Amino acid sequence: MRPARALIDLAALRHNYQLARARHGGRALAVVKANAYGHGAVQCASALAGLADGFAVAFLEEALELRAAGVAHPILLLEGVFEASDLADVQRHALWTVVHHEEQLRMIEAAALPGPINVWLKVNSGMNRAGFVGDAVRAAWQRLHDCGKVAAITLMTHFARADEPHVISTTAQIERFDATTRDLPGARSMANSGGVLGWPAAHRDWARPGILLYGADPMPGEGNGLQPVMSLESGIIAVREIETGEPLGYGARFIAERPTRVGLVAMGYADGYPRVVPDGTPVAVDGLRTRLIGRVSMDMLTVDLTDLPDAGLGSRVELWGSNIPVNRIAEAAGTIAYELLCNVKRVRLEYVG
Ligand SMILES: *Cc1c(COP(=O)(O)O)cnc(C)c1O
Repeated sequence: MRPARALIDLAALRHNYQLARARHGGRALAVVKANAYGHGAVQCASALAGLADGFAVAFLEEALELRAAGVAHPILLLEGVFEASDLADVQRHALWTVVHHEEQLRMIEAAALPGPINVWLKVNSGMNRAGFVGDAVRAAWQRLHDCGKVAAITLMTHFARADEPHVISTTAQIERFDATTRDLPGARSMANSGGVLGWPAAHRDWARPGILLYGADPMPGEGNGLQPVMSLESGIIAVREIETGEPLGYGARFIAERPTRVGLVAMGYADGYPRVVPDGTPVAVDGLRTRLIGRVSMDMLTVDLTDLPDAGLGSRVELWGSNIPVNRIAEAAGTIAYELLCNVKRVRLEYVG
C-alpha cells in the first residue's frame, strides 16, 4: 500500500474548538465547509458533536451530507440558497441560511413552506463581497420579519482583514456593523478565526471559526496555542546517491552541490502538495528536518538525506504537521494554509483521537 496519508488528529480538533469557544465567549459554529478544509466534514463534525453549538458549511449539498450522516446540530449555509427550490430542503432539514442579497430575500418571501426557517442576515460592513449595506439592512430585516416565514433573524458580517493585527479597517468594519444594526433585535456574529484570536471587540453571540479549528494560525507567530490537526505524511520508497554537479528531477532545477543522498518520497502535486515550492523547502524525515530538493512531480518528490545517515527506505516523511507547520509550506508556495489543506486529495485520510 502506498504510504501517503493525511493523519487527522481529532483530539487536536476538539482542543482547538474549545480554545476558540473559550477565547470568544458565547457560542461557536464550527466551520466545516469544503470537506472541513480537507479534513473530512463528516468525521470532523462527528468528533465535535458533543462540544459544538453547531456547524457552518458553504451550501446546501454540504449540509445534506452532514444530515445524511446523522449530524443533528444547527447547520448554517454561509452562501445561502441559490434557487427557490433549495428552501424546501432548508426547512425540511432544519438548516439555517444566510441571506446576503435581494434575490434570496425574494425567494423567501415567495416560498410556500410548511414551517418557518432561521435566517442569518448578512451585513456588508466594508468587505464589499456580499451583504446588505446601510438602510437596506433595516429594510431587509423588516421584510424577513414581516413575511411570516422566518422564526429568528441573526445579524452577521464578515471581515476582510481580521488576520492582520492592528489594521484599522477591521475596527471600521466593527463600528459600521454596530451602527448599521443599532436597534435591531437578535443575536450577532462577526468573528471568523482572525476575529476570534485577534479582535475581542468583534466578539458577540456567535463565533464562526474555520481555519483555527484545523490548527493553522491565521496570524502566524502569535503563539495562540493551537494544535495542528493534519499531518500529511508518506515514506521513502527509494534512495540513490548522486555526484556533485549531477542534476535531479524535472527541468534539472536542482544540481548537487556535494555528493548527495537522495530520498524518493511517494507524494506529489496530484496529492495536493504544491508544485511551486523551491529547493530548500523543509520536510521532516523520521522527525528530523531536512529539505526538499528538485522539482515536485505528480506522484513523487525528492528530499536530501545526506545529513540523515539513519534515514532510508521506509523512513517516515512529514510534509506538514507537528514538525513542519502548514503555514511554513504555504509561505514557500506563495499561498495560505487554507488552500493547501483544501487541496489535499488522493491520499488516505486516517483518524486518531
Ligand atoms: C469561511 C468562513 C468563515 C471561517 O473563516 P476562517 O478564516 O477559516 O475562520 C467564517 N465566516 C464566513 C462567512 C466564511 O465564509
